[in-house]
Amino acid sequence: MKTFAVRNLRLCTKDCLCLYVCPTGAADTENSVIDRQKCIGCGACAQACPSAAISLVPVRMPPQQPKTDGVAAAMGELAKGKVQAENAARTLAARSEGALSQFYKCVALSCRLSAEDALREGGYMLPQSSAVHALLKDIALSGDERAAEIAGRLMAMLPVND
Ligand code: SF4
Ligand code: SF4
Repeated sequence: MKTFAVRNLRLCTKDCLCLYVCPTGAADTENSVIDRQKCIGCGACAQACPSAAISLVPVRMPPQQPKTDGVAAAMGELAKGKVQAENAARTLAARSEGALSQFYKCVALSCRLSAEDALREGGYMLPQSSAVHALLKDIALSGDERAAEIAGRLMAMLPVND
């Protein structure tokens, strides 16, 4: 499978081994982002990195695992409920103080993570799935110029491959 390297900037401690082992200079860029055009996916940087900051990702992503309508609908309902719970917890956090406020913030975060899990299970796991593209099209038509531009770029970068 053809791959290319990506760097997790939060883990990278900067300017060390990958710069020396990369045969093409792809790892050594001004903005710290590995140059995808130069990367040949050899993996030398990932093996050398002491911080495990580099991963190899496929050039062509696998298709999204198909979901039945029943699963998608159930997961959508679950996600909706979790988002409502998250919003309620955020409201309570804003109205509370100290430890109680922190508690409600944790509840909100937990609900957010559960909603994201449910959405992934419902068919929104991979950005190149048709479900995610339908969502991006909605965002592109939402009237928010910045969001529309980003949605358009994502759709162009990751064509549907269901
Ligand atoms: S995978 Fe190979 S070519 Fe790509 S950045 Fe890492 S060392 Fe360089
Ligand atoms: S080897 Fe790892 S930690 Fe060092 S510069 Fe490269 S990505 Fe960053």
